[in-house]
Order: sequence, then structure tokens, then C-alpha cells
Amino acid sequence: MMSEKPELPEIGEKETGLAQAAPLLIGWFKKNARPLPWRMDRDPYRILVSETMLQQTRIETVLPYFERFLSDYPDPAHLAAAPEDEVLKHWEGLGYYSRARHLREAARQCVEKYGGKLPGSYAGLRALPGLGEYTAGAVASLAYGEPVSAVDGNVLRVLSRFWNDERDISRSAVKKEARSRIEAVLRTLDEPGVFNEALMELGEVRCLPNGRPQCLRCPLNGLCLARQAGTEADLPNRGEIKPRRKEAKTVLLLFCGEKVALEKRPDRGLLAGLYGFPMLDGALSLFDAAEWVRSFGVRVLSAEPAGEAVHVFTHVEWAMRGCRFRTDRPLPGLIYAEADELATKYALPSAFRLYRAQAKDSGKDKQNGKMGSDQ
Ligand code: SF4
Repeated sequence: MMSEKPELPEIGEKETGLAQAAPLLIGWFKKNARPLPWRMDRDPYRILVSETMLQQTRIETVLPYFERFLSDYPDPAHLAAAPEDEVLKHWEGLGYYSRARHLREAARQCVEKYGGKLPGSYAGLRALPGLGEYTAGAVASLAYGEPVSAVDGNVLRVLSRFWNDERDISRSAVKKEARSRIEAVLRTLDEPGVFNEALMELGEVRCLPNGRPQCLRCPLNGLCLARQAGTEADLPNRGEIKPRRKEAKTVLLLFCGEKVALEKRPDRGLLAGLYGFPMLDGALSLFDAAEWVRSFGVRVLSAEPAGEAVHVFTHVEWAMRGCRFRTDRPLPGLIYAEADELATKYALPSAFRLYRAQAKDSGKDKQNGKMGSDQ
């Protein structure tokens, strides 16, 4: 009978380095931690909301959203009771909208199964919708002091430099090993959550991405192997990054009277379930787009170009061409909204920022723009 192999046979040096780093890192963090609103207390719901918002999003962007969200949904019960469209409207501009849906669904399960509170363990948290290893680990360690890791790209970058590890950090085996090694150290600490948070903070304010680590101001510079080897600017190794797929789209600004047409996007795919302007595949000329509009039996009263914009998603890039039409009647199957409803009622992702501005102000329509990330 074969004996079971240990998961990590050569445990030793890396944990030793990390164990030596722990008091330095925790001491540095306690003196230098930024006073972020979700650090005011160890409330698991606040931590969950902040960690969900912070995925793929900068802290400066999240701050105003966090305060507003917590003011309207101060606990899981309030969030669970809110209509999905309202929650998505609160999320407008933050991008990656599936996070908001999952958060609301997680809140509903907290109400149904846990009396309106978050489950009190990593395993319980991990079973909620949208909570992956990272988010469940962050909440469980920060709120409950459970010795579980919270490893994201930020933490992997710090560790690949700290250990001078040239392996590709996008490989799941590398992440799994990092988790195990961190947890071996966390089990020896009184404050595992503080260690996790300190590691995150180090990645955000010292061990910065794109070859810009601030090693002279880093509490770990005496232990960091990449610093000793002079390789810190070359790490981490992110493997081969696939080029984004480029897609051409024609965005239609369809006015009828004072209203503009919107459509609810499909439940699957990019910007799923959100509102947007009607879109056609490909970069159509104004003439061809007008023909498409006329095919619904309406008269086109005016036609103008509405500018071009690029929007970058994680794996896809949209090159959008806008066409603006005024028709004598509404097109069937679309929602016609007043300009002020775009601000108050419908969550329009930032991909449509250029066209939304025109829909609000029908006098301006010749602009070009490059947009940020949205999902
Ligand atoms: S010494 Fe430099 S490379 Fe090493 S962990 Fe600190 S900031 Fe990162």
C-alpha cells in the first residue's frame, strides 16, 4: 500500500523567513495602518462589504461607495430586503457587477440560515455565494481571528519577492503553496488576522506592483531575498498574459420625444442584467445603422455620429462607435427613459459613460473617450 505523500515536503526555510517577518510586519502595521473606515471595528459584515468592493478596485474609488452602501444597507437584513436593481444602482461605476449580486444573495442566505448574521467560521463563509478563498479567509481571520490565509495577487506579489521565487504566480500550485506556508505561520500567532491585513497593506503601500517596490521604507528589507538578490523589480513572474479579444460594437442612442432607449442586457455575459444602450455587433456606418433602425417600421428624423469610445474588460476590449437617431415612434421591445431616470433609476455601467453624458445633454455629441474597467 502506498503511503500518502506530504503536501509540502520541503517545509522549512520559507516558513522560517515568514515567521521572522511576522513581528516586524505586525509592528509596522500597528504603527502605520491607514485609518480606513472598515478598520474601525472587526464587524464581519463591514469587512465582507469592503473586501468585495476592493476586488479589482482601488481603495480611493471604493471609499465613497463603502460609506453610502453601509448607510443604506447597514446589515445583511437590509441588503437582503433591497431589490436587485436598487443594489446595482448603488454599485454603478464600481464595475464587476456580479460582486453586488453575490453580496446580496449572500445576505439573503445569512437571513435565511444564520438569523441575519454572517456565519462564524471560514467553512460557513466559504459556502456563501461569491465568497472565494480570499474573501472568506479575510473575513474569518480579521473578524474571528481564525488562522486562515487571505491570498490574492497583491499578497502573491509580496511573497514572490520576499522569497525571491521566480515561479509563475498565476499557477494554482504556487498559490496553494503560499496559502499553506502562511497558515503554518498563522497558527503560531495570537493575531493571525492582523498578520494577513499587514501583508495586504505592505503590498498596497510598500511592495508596489510594476517594478516599483519601496524597499528602503519596507519593514522586511533586511529579510527579503529579492532585495538581497537585486531582483525585486523583476518579480513577480506573471506567466504569459493572453492578449485581450477586441470586439467592435455600434451603440445606438435612440431618442423619441424627451426619452432615450435602453435595453436590459442578457442575464449572462459581460455586464449581465444591467441596463445599457442598444448595441449591435460590428462597427456599422451611420447609414447601415439607420437602415437597421428603419427595419422596425419607424421614421428616422435625424441621424448623427455620437463619438467613439474604448472600454476595457478583463479579457475583452470593446471598440464602440456611437450613432444617434431621433425617430418618430419608439422602437418595440426597448425601455424609453427620461434623462433624470438615468441618474436615479437605471444602473448604467461606466462602459457607456460617453453615451450617457450625451443622453443627458442632447446638445453635445461629438466626443472621444477611453474608459476604465468594468465587468
Ligand atoms: S524589501 Fe522591497 S521587494 Fe522586499 S518585500 Fe519589501 S518592498 Fe517588497
